[in-house]
Amino acid sequence: MIIDIHGHYTTAPPALEAWRNRQIAGIADRAMAPSVSELRIGDDELRESIAGNQLGKMKERGIDLTIFSPRASFMAHHIGDFNTSATWAAINNELCHRVSRLFPDHFIGAAMLPQSPGADPASCIPELERCVKEYGFVAVNLNPDPSGGHWTSPPLTDRHWYPVYEKMVEYGIPAMIHVSTSCNACFHTTGAHYINADTTAFMQCLSGDLFKDFPTLKFVIPHGGGAAPYHWGRYRGLAQEMKKPLLRDHLLNNIFFDTCVYHQPGIDLLTRVIPVENVLFASEMIGAVRGIDPETGHHYDDTKRYIDAANLSGEQRHRIYEGNARRVYSRLDAALAAKGL
Ligand SMILES: [Zn+2]
Repeated sequence: MIIDIHGHYTTAPPALEAWRNRQIAGIADRAMAPSVSELRIGDDELRESIAGNQLGKMKERGIDLTIFSPRASFMAHHIGDFNTSATWAAINNELCHRVSRLFPDHFIGAAMLPQSPGADPASCIPELERCVKEYGFVAVNLNPDPSGGHWTSPPLTDRHWYPVYEKMVEYGIPAMIHVSTSCNACFHTTGAHYINADTTAFMQCLSGDLFKDFPTLKFVIPHGGGAAPYHWGRYRGLAQEMKKPLLRDHLLNNIFFDTCVYHQPGIDLLTRVIPVENVLFASEMIGAVRGIDPETGHHYDDTKRYIDAANLSGEQRHRIYEGNARRVYSRLDAALAAKGL
């Protein structure tokens, strides 16, 4: 099987964005605020939005299953307050759930959490529980910076986040550490803020001892791990200065990197530097980078081509495509096993 662990519903019907715009207008003027029931999207619209887009590309590229979460840049946790985020997260998670019901062989959900700047992360737990228990979701996306580029929350190693980690461990679900839209003009959302956040999350974990408190907690750092694999020597050296264990022992039982690196040399480096056990196949297709690379004639986000061309054994490739995902996402493994896969 080929499992893409990083997909977002970027092609949702336009009614979703129109509703969100009204919700945002309603923050300043309550008379403008829409009710949830005013958003109506039929199953046919959902089917159409997926069949010609993500699912079509998955079939073209030979991807069997995608772990599917709400569009990351639309989470925009910095907008409004907790209630704004709670309503918005519930709507988006339900849509991803419906997609997974319509295409059960090809999509399984991961939740957006209703985070909000300054709010206690424990306030996210009811939505997390609903997504796992009612929707069968297998992971969450955790935003380390709900302020959208101003970094007002404590580091991921702080006890502030522990209520969410306790639930993750209880349910056996990993978190993809994933920021959303930047509202800081210095940071382009997908070109800088995302990659900064990946690197920042990795370094926070390196300088703390979070995984002593949560030995089974699992984080997926997307976009190839930001700068971490490229600067692995720097991070090994910093860990040494800080008297931390070797990174292998300190972090690599708990931290995994995806393959959303959109060129061959990047994947070659990732799979050479990072143990294959810690690399998970992903494309984040129909995401930030949608064009065709003139040097190869293929889409930048057609990441399967890079894995196929990397210097890996068949067994290593199998781990990246399926084995590691089933180990990290234990609820995904259970769902597949229940289908005899
Ligand atoms: Zn993403």
